[in-house]
Amino acid sequence: MVSDALVIGAGLGGALAAAVLSRAGLKVVVVDRHAAYPPDFRAEQLVGSQADTLRHLGLLEGIVGQTTPMPSATAACHGKVIDATYCDHYGLRYEEMVNAARALSAPTTFITGRVAQIVTGAEAQKVHLADGRVLDTRLVVFAAGPNSGDLLSSLGIERTMLSEHHSLTFGFDVETASRGVFVYYGERTADQMDYLTVFPIGNRMRANLFCYLHPNDPWARSFKHSPKQALLSVMPSLERALGPFEVVGKVQVRPNSIQRAENVRGQAGIVVIGDAYQSSCPAVGTGIGRLLADIEALNRHVSLWLATPGMDADKIEQFYDDPAKRKVDAHALRIAKSRRALCTGTGWGWQAYRAQHYYRRRTLGVILRAIRRERPRLDGTIAGPQHLQLRADAPIRARASGWEAAKRAVMAAITLLTIG
Ligand SMILES: Cc1cc2nc3c(=O)[nH]c(=O)nc-3n(C[C@H](O)[C@H](O)[C@H](O)COP(=O)(O)OP(=O)(O)OC[C@H]3O[C@@H](n4cnc5c(N)ncnc54)[C@H](O)[C@@H]3O)c2cc1C
Repeated sequence: MVSDALVIGAGLGGALAAAVLSRAGLKVVVVDRHAAYPPDFRAEQLVGSQADTLRHLGLLEGIVGQTTPMPSATAACHGKVIDATYCDHYGLRYEEMVNAARALSAPTTFITGRVAQIVTGAEAQKVHLADGRVLDTRLVVFAAGPNSGDLLSSLGIERTMLSEHHSLTFGFDVETASRGVFVYYGERTADQMDYLTVFPIGNRMRANLFCYLHPNDPWARSFKHSPKQALLSVMPSLERALGPFEVVGKVQVRPNSIQRAENVRGQAGIVVIGDAYQSSCPAVGTGIGRLLADIEALNRHVSLWLATPGMDADKIEQFYDDPAKRKVDAHALRIAKSRRALCTGTGWGWQAYRAQHYYRRRTLGVILRAIRRERPRLDGTIAGPQHLQLRADAPIRARASGWEAAKRAVMAAITLLTIG
């Protein structure tokens, strides 16, 4: 069979791409090493615009299932509330999201196997599996994730390291009275912490800690053995904010580097999407948004490509030139770099910028809390009339965006006053 598109890798990017392309009427084949995506420590929340994009693609319900979104998050630092933000947070294990996305991609043909070689050309593509099978397709959609460089290098596509050991992420379960989404920022620059977020997944409370330490840093190693002690050594006022807590079960840790595939232009017959194209820093939570932008861009172009013979490099180039995709890629890199600098920069300039950032957010938080007559509680929930309203459905969400607009206006005013 010659498929219209053959998707290599069914992680979140590949599985969602297959779902979108098959719904657009394409004959899609998916190949992945695993029949079911195994437990993996990756993204564990779908937040705000990510959920909105999935809703727009008609895929959100299928992925989140019965999971109830938390409508807000309370942010705190130095034991005090900074502010509350309103957007949907769905807590889900990565493998749950991926396996749900795979179920949405039916009626694609799913093949379990390891891709060993890809041979591309301006007319047709051949994908060789390790067990000897050969699959023919018009377009290869390469979504084999961040560690798939060898397969690409045989095509002349190299992955460039943009920021090695950029950040480090820890994941663990906690026992706490908190039931909302709670974010706690690092208290001292020297510790190189960004933030801890605590959120529900099912009936458990899960925590992700994002920091900028090297994986071999002694503190990072000590975290695996005595996580609570290590956490309180860098966030001494955390218990004042979150209340008493215990870390339970195994601590997972993932180092993150940022890489991008180069020489993708000029390649006929293959598009590279998701982390295989550009990996992201988990601390800024742009990985899923970026892979969704890739899928939307692909969906905008692919039907036209298939409408005429061949799959030459000029067609493929339209994907990498897609303005919306380029904007999201550039933003993901920019925000990863600036966030790291904001949390770790030690010069006077950075200290002043950090102080301005913190006090601006706190001042704004106090003003908005007074206007909304709400009380973000340190356990991650929010009390007050607005909060009760925000728990209802769509029209109220529109009101939440109204509040976000008001917040931006007040923030602009405070920034002007600060500069003044
Ligand atoms: C710890 C951590 C936390 C994160 N948190 C967030 C977050 O909060 N928000 C956010 O937006 N992003 C987050 N991210 C980033 C996000 O998880 C990734 O951007 C996303 O998972 C990338 O998905 P993908 O489909 O591109 O790759 P993957 O999910 O890695 O999928 C690759 C697939 O390809 C398959 N494969 C590989 N090689 C082959 C082969 N030769 N043959 C066949 N199949 C193959 C694999 O089996 C796998 O199924 C986080 C990442 C990490 C590491």
